Amino acid sequence: MQTPQRPGPGPAPLTVPPPGDPFLAGRTALVTGAASGIGRACAQALAAAGARVHVVDRAADAARDLAEAIGGTAWVVDLAVPDVVDTLPDDVDIVVNNAGLQHVAPVHAFPPDRFALIQRVMVETPFRILRRTLPGMYERGWGRVVNISSVHGLRASPYKSAYVTAKHALEGLSKVVALEAAEHGVTSNCVSPGYVRTPLVENQIADQARTHGISEEEVVGRVMLERSAIKRLIEPDDVAGAVLWLCGPGTGHITGTSLSMDGGWTAN
Ligand code: NAD
Repeated sequence: MQTPQRPGPGPAPLTVPPPGDPFLAGRTALVTGAASGIGRACAQALAAAGARVHVVDRAADAARDLAEAIGGTAWVVDLAVPDVVDTLPDDVDIVVNNAGLQHVAPVHAFPPDRFALIQRVMVETPFRILRRTLPGMYERGWGRVVNISSVHGLRASPYKSAYVTAKHALEGLSKVVALEAAEHGVTSNCVSPGYVRTPLVENQIADQARTHGISEEEVVGRVMLERSAIKRLIEPDDVAGAVLWLCGPGTGHITGTSLSMDGGWTAN
């Protein structure tokens, strides 16, 4: 005879809310690097799902325009300045650590100050934001931390020592937070995309096409996506969709993981 199944006290079953469902109404999100690319798409998606969004970026006009468009608040700060984090709101339910930058050079020629800057913006600042915001989430018994990592949080490429180091560190930080925060109803995950069509990458494509004397399609297909099975750039909205899903109902058991969105790169 089968034992009847009783509903347990755990997270709700895995569900995907329909578009336009304000399932984050009453929640507050803080998104860094929200004025452009992936961060911008995340801020828009979270706001469309009902969250009040803090748009954090050093790009003043773009941050203010976006905040106005989505009914959020702009915080124009340089996240490379450690103490600046103390001026940001700490009573948020969702943190998306997204701000980032790249510098390409071989290790022996990599400027140390550039290396340090990248660790500061992409590792130390997320740590500083989380150490301020986690206590409130713990108090309220709910929270979502989503760290925008990269395929380079899981794999290396030459000439990207600072970026690869920082993204691997962010993956580690995310896992530690997952372990500490679990008992408080807070999850922590990474979303780890391959190349995403953002202003940053579009400029790189144009530059490389010029430098190598090949077409932009060849740069994307043969150079950037050489190790990806899917030869197509990811769209910022795709990444935002994954972030939103991790903040949605029914994903309470998903924590300490890295959601690869790399077209099969890491399967290779
Ligand atoms: P982007 O350049 O379009 O946007 C980055 C934003 O971060 C900008 O608005 C910029 O002003 C802000 N920013 C950077 N340094 C800052 C600082 N010191 N203080 C305040 N704001 C700062 O870049 P993107 O492509 O959208 O990248 C966003 C995140 O996604 C980064 O962490 C990046 O590493 C990651 N990522 C990007 C790709 C890609 O292919 N584009 C792939 C994987 C991961």
